[in-house]
Amino acid sequence: MADLAKAKQLLESQLAELKARLEHIEADLAEPMDSDSGERAVQMEDDESLEGQAAVIESRITATQRALLRVENGSYGECMQCGKDIPQGRLDARPESVLCVTCKAAG
Ligand SMILES: [Zn+2]
Repeated sequence: MADLAKAKQLLESQLAELKARLEHIEADLAEPMDSDSGERAVQMEDDESLEGQAAVIESRITATQRALLRVENGSYGECMQCGKDIPQGRLDARPESVLCVTCKAAG
């Protein structure tokens, strides 16, 4: 049985951290381009990797919010696919996990 109070706390702090990181990246992306063309090429490369990072963070935010909903309805810690308990070690490493290792590997 997962420790729901602890999980909720963990998920909420993770959510706040992810949102802060996303805001930081979005602020970087919003910076105007340099007028020097050499600099601009570097900035465009940076922006592309920032966009990649932003996409990863956004998907983790969605997963974290979903996990929080599962804390609320009491299904947190159960594999969404097979219904077995997700090992605590996995939840500690990735509190937003919704699948056990087996189903994750299969999916
Ligand atoms: Zn499973």
